[in-house]
Amino acid sequence: MQRFLRKMGLGLLLGLLLVSPIYGQTNSTADTFDPERAMAHVVALADGIGIRQVGTPNEGRAAAYVATQFVAYGLDTRVQPLPVYNLYSQNVIGVLPGTDPEAGTIYIGAHYDSVPWGPGANDNASGTAVLLEAARILANEAFSPTLTFIAFGGEERSLGGSSYFAGYLPPLEQYVARGMINMDCVGWGTAQGIGFVDESADPLIQKALDNAVALNIPADVAEVPNSDHASFATINIPAIMLYSYAPGRQDCGPNYHQPTDTPDGVDPVQMDRVAQILLATVRDLANDPPQRRLKHLWLPLL
Ligand SMILES: [Zn+2]
Repeated sequence: MQRFLRKMGLGLLLGLLLVSPIYGQTNSTADTFDPERAMAHVVALADGIGIRQVGTPNEGRAAAYVATQFVAYGLDTRVQPLPVYNLYSQNVIGVLPGTDPEAGTIYIGAHYDSVPWGPGANDNASGTAVLLEAARILANEAFSPTLTFIAFGGEERSLGGSSYFAGYLPPLEQYVARGMINMDCVGWGTAQGIGFVDESADPLIQKALDNAVALNIPADVAEVPNSDHASFATINIPAIMLYSYAPGRQDCGPNYHQPTDTPDGVDPVQMDRVAQILLATVRDLANDPPQRRLKHLWLPLL
């Protein structure tokens, strides 16, 4: 059923376990977003690797970078190879298994590729950085549902990575999915946005809005169809996108899809705000009773 998934990083994981401190996590940033770590990810992806066009070695290098981080956080890490038109790309998938096998899965994602003519610091090394920080923080917690973190390849070519992932998600996994939260362009502007495709996202939007209010972070809601959450909405999984913006313009800012989309234009304060909304919303969603449990499905399967 999951023949396209290839396990990787076990050796590295074992190596990390052998050198892990015996007395557990002592890092004070274990449970909070760390702007320095996030900016280091943005710089590593946008400056260190640079342009991450789908199907290129640089896109593969970025995938390897993300996979290395997932393994370091202790996630069950896999790479999903996939075609995008006549090119090859890959999704990087990190899984934190839930304590209740019937409680379904929450998907958290961001694309790591860029357009061919720019290093994509805000679009979307910023979202990838928040994805990595969320994975690092949440990996220290226990949840009933499974948390699946996905760094998508090929987003800039027709949502290549996420449409492949959603298209090959087994029907049972689709049935018990709790929701999907995507992050794209989260490091510029002055405000936070919650994007959606259809009304199935309404409860998830409400959760994100409530959390933004509780955190005293101004946030707005808009219909946004052109990023990876749309691939999950297509298979009837409630999906939203968190993004940053400046009132008056709804795109990814003045450097959008330009060679000037470099790390110096990425604001860690904006990434922090998106991360806070994301973390609170994931915890809320995880604490909800599952709407659709596997045991409810036995009759139709006969
Ligand atoms: Zn993007």
